[in-house]
Amino acid sequence: MIVDSAPAFDVREYLRKEMMPHFLCPGCGHGIALRALLWALHELKVDKDKLAVVSGIGCAGRLSAYIDASTFHVTHGRPLAYATGLALARPDLRVVVISGDGDCLAIGGNHLIHACRRNLKITCLMLNNEVYGMTGGQVSPTTSEMRVTTTTPLGNSEPHFDACALAAAAGAGFVGREGTRHVPKLAELMLAGLEHPGFSFIEVLSDCTEIFGRKNEMGSSSEMILRQKSELRPEAYRDTVDTPFRANELPTGVLAKNARPEYGAAYRKAAAAIKAAAAKKGRK
Ligand code: SF4
Repeated sequence: MIVDSAPAFDVREYLRKEMMPHFLCPGCGHGIALRALLWALHELKVDKDKLAVVSGIGCAGRLSAYIDASTFHVTHGRPLAYATGLALARPDLRVVVISGDGDCLAIGGNHLIHACRRNLKITCLMLNNEVYGMTGGQVSPTTSEMRVTTTTPLGNSEPHFDACALAAAAGAGFVGREGTRHVPKLAELMLAGLEHPGFSFIEVLSDCTEIFGRKNEMGSSSEMILRQKSELRPEAYRDTVDTPFRANELPTGVLAKNARPEYGAAYRKAAAAIKAAAAKKGRK
């Protein structure tokens, strides 16, 4: 159990102290998500020299810079593409992707679908705070209905994306969701995802307190985090929308699992067989 390792876990051992202070706003959920990830890595006794963390653009994307490991802060929406190359070329590494909801589902949506389908050993964390926080608070694919953003001043009228349903449908080997309100549970889920032998996708329900919360008058950071387990759906809109609404109706925990062969191992096996057959025929 991850809680058993709590006394021995010192988050500072996994952080780049020279990068402090960090840039996150007070109360931002992304710091909690980062702590949960580092806790899970600590529990797994991951060698920092064998850990590669790839992130895209946005507030979530900035997190890789704080981790004392081999980290890559890459172009918008492309962390899974970079991670694919890394995982194929260096199967000895543990490859983790940190991506925001815009980075992962909008700009990088196609990469996500194919990473799920391919099933390489990569753990992808999608930090969902329903907004493009860093770039000014624009609507994202996961913004809940009727929420106000800088690009939906009258309220978002598009249904939000269920990222876990998408990942499961695309064939991801492990799919799970948890909120930042429960750190041990979140760390446990990340641990399970990291242990999965194929592609694991974990949606983390996080909070953008400063941009999204302020614009939607959601109160303090502690009030926002309490909302993760209570009513998130505006009453006025409740009876007019059929689509499920965020955390209060979205299931959490491990949501899907399958045991398809991991792509890298299958690829290396096929390549070795071709090489052996060629050698038998006297070809290089
Ligand atoms: S803008 Fe939002 S997501 Fe970005 S650091 Fe601030 S609270 Fe967090």
